[in-house]
Amino acid sequence: MKVETGTWTDLAACRGKSDLFFPRTYRDTYERSKADRAIAICNTCPVMQQCRTYALHAHERFGIWGALTPDGLRDERRRLRIT
Ligand code: SF4
Repeated sequence: MKVETGTWTDLAACRGKSDLFFPRTYRDTYERSKADRAIAICNTCPVMQQCRTYALHAHERFGIWGALTPDGLRDERRRLRIT
């Protein structure tokens, strides 16, 4: 019998904290502080690389993924030439 081991999302450090990961804007000081807290959580996450790879290839446009803001993800897509 095959044992289901789940996916990388089961190990996500952000589980239950989604309000921090989808700030309304990145220009407002309060919302920016939420984004900074989200990024700090990402930097402790055991699946950060899987998350970032997913977000880059899924062309996620909103929220914090793999310790990157949408602008950071856009720049990383350009750098890696992901179309
Ligand atoms: S890297 Fe950040 S957004 Fe991605 S799963 Fe981990 S905590 Fe969540």
